[in-house]
Amino acid sequence: MDHVRNVERIFGDEYGILTFTGENIRRRLSPAALKRLEQTIQYSEPLDEAISDEVAAAMKDWAVENGCTHYCHWFQPLTGATAEKHDSFLNMDGEGGVIAEFSGEMLIRSEPDASSFPTGSIRDTWEARGYTAWDPTSPAFISINGGERTLCIPTAFVSWTGESLDQKTPLLRSIDALSIQAMRILHLFGTDKGVHRVQTTLGCEQEYFLLDADNYQARPDLRMCGRTLIGCDAPKGHQLDDHYFGSIPAKVLSYMADAEARLYALGIPAKTRHNEVAPQQFELAPLFEGTNLACDHQMQTMSVLRNTARDHGLVCLLHEKPFAGINGSGKHNNWSLVTDTGHNLLNPNDGGPGHLQFLTFVCAVVKGLDKNADLLRATVASAGNDHRLGANEAPPAILSIYTGAELERVLANLEAGELSDFEHTTRLDLGTTAMPKLERHPGDRNRTSPFAFIGNRFEFRAVGSTAVPAWPNAVLNTIVAEALDEIATQMESSLTDDMTKEARSHAIIEVLRSVYSEHKRVVFNGDNYSEAWQEEAKKRGLPNLKGCAESFPVMGSRKARDLFSKYGVLSEAELEARLMVLYETYAQVMQIEARTLLRMVNTMVIPAAIRHQAEVAEAIAATDAAGVDPAAVRGRLTDLTARITDLEVACLEVESILDNLPEDDEETTRKIQDKMIPAMNKVRLNSDAIESILPDDLWPLPTYLDLLF
Ligand code: ADP
Ligand code: MG
Repeated sequence: MDHVRNVERIFGDEYGILTFTGENIRRRLSPAALKRLEQTIQYSEPLDEAISDEVAAAMKDWAVENGCTHYCHWFQPLTGATAEKHDSFLNMDGEGGVIAEFSGEMLIRSEPDASSFPTGSIRDTWEARGYTAWDPTSPAFISINGGERTLCIPTAFVSWTGESLDQKTPLLRSIDALSIQAMRILHLFGTDKGVHRVQTTLGCEQEYFLLDADNYQARPDLRMCGRTLIGCDAPKGHQLDDHYFGSIPAKVLSYMADAEARLYALGIPAKTRHNEVAPQQFELAPLFEGTNLACDHQMQTMSVLRNTARDHGLVCLLHEKPFAGINGSGKHNNWSLVTDTGHNLLNPNDGGPGHLQFLTFVCAVVKGLDKNADLLRATVASAGNDHRLGANEAPPAILSIYTGAELERVLANLEAGELSDFEHTTRLDLGTTAMPKLERHPGDRNRTSPFAFIGNRFEFRAVGSTAVPAWPNAVLNTIVAEALDEIATQMESSLTDDMTKEARSHAIIEVLRSVYSEHKRVVFNGDNYSEAWQEEAKKRGLPNLKGCAESFPVMGSRKARDLFSKYGVLSEAELEARLMVLYETYAQVMQIEARTLLRMVNTMVIPAAIRHQAEVAEAIAATDAAGVDPAAVRGRLTDLTARITDLEVACLEVESILDNLPEDDEETTRKIQDKMIPAMNKVRLNSDAIESILPDDLWPLPTYLDLLF
């Protein structure tokens, strides 16, 4: 809860401390109010509304001292972004004047217009009322944009009817659901003493591209869609692997340092920075935190990365696939379970008696994933991520779990009814006397798996770089909650109080053995990029949902409805709304892409090509008139003319699909995926072919070479 301590000594104090945490609170609240607030923050106990006026006044004083004139309820609607409506602290004083005031009521609740946000079918345009509600467990912060400072209060967003219209609410509900089930397991192992709650932890590795702002401005596709829709490969991509972990260019490093200073000021513990695989691609990873806070911090991180870039003459692209032919960007989702007493339940060395408790949680993850691989896959489906998943740069669309050899061995023994220990680390001798002998982990790492065990956590790697992390985490928590629930029920019925310790262990192993053998088909420790795995996965009956058209319907399935309502994460109406928003967003994004593509081709590519065509035709006539055979130049003209014709035809095809999209959401998604995207690819193919032969001075756009090198 405290602001990252001492960071100003390391990173300077340019931005001050921009969170209402630690000393900022302690200095300003009465001991009684402080205690009650801390109860809520630490143990998620209901907020005592009696203290809200005092907290609000303290928060306002702090914000005003730090240069704020306005506050906003900051929330995550279903748009994929964050939303804020600013209000000044001014209020009528009841005597004809105005005073600066911020009451408990204003802190706790606000009333933005719900109908202008995506609501699925929950609200009509004329049914406007919605509420935001303060989340006291995520610190209020001051956002700096240009010279302006605004107090931002993290909130949940619900419709007047009480249904969630945001990303935070289902996440919080899923953590509650998971906590209840995990506590049952701890109780069975007798490790629940002093534990009030189990929560999940999250560390998101954010990949992004940086571009020169002028180049970005000159490309309508980047400005409209955040990615290039045409553009022929630069002669060099990442064949030489010379960018990954390379030395960070000075301009980029100064950008990173500035972004980090802003993040530290917001209490966001940025930790790792490096060059990624593709040219101009980079990564930032924070220290992990409780998932609710980590998700709010992730949303803030994305805005800080974007805003800071602008101040450095750069543009930060978070899109999953800004450039064809080189790697896209993901957001690896490192996830674990921790008690409020600080025990990581996915750490085999921190897991209780004989590792059995650890294995219980691992088996729950295996079971949850096997039962709901399709649903978890659906949480990362988006127009952007469709370019990435399964494209041999990111994990395939088949969700499987990598356990690593060590855990695989322990699980195989468990299946045979035996409990075995984990091997300890060994020493690696580098063969030179001066170098230290390195500690070596018992298992290797795997980069191709969508869901990998990393020693003390699972890393879900299929999440796209623009994703709002709250959603995949809400679903992951829910499917693991269900698995824990079922396992706990099985164990409770086979354990009795009068059992000996051995008999208890035996009964627990028996339950886990049956869970693991039923669900182990989802475990795969080989190369997930290989053809052979596609075949093998099919044999095992694992779902392979290629894109949005296959993924979205899973969210509307009976199974999904039952799961979310059973654990109180989303009602059927809330799920339905989310599904409609997904369909709508997909269709809108793809139509914007198609229209941008047509506009660029019709107003930039084809006119440039025709100019060149005329030039070449003139050159042929002149060459001929000079008595020389223009055969070679004629070949160029024939090629170019054929390409222009093909390009026109391909554009007409995209246009006709756009004009005839079906009414039905599911059919529209299908048609876009199966017909419109291939047609757009045909446009691109011809446009790129023209780009590769057009004179440099005629080509109207910054090229991949300009953008990336
Ligand atoms: P990688 O080697 O996978 O690229 P990074 O260091 O870039 O690793 O990122 C790993 C991320 O995992 C960091 O954000 C880190 O804080 C996070 N992490 C580590 N332990 C846990 C945990 N127990 N729960 C959640 N996230 C964790
Ligand atoms: Mg990393």
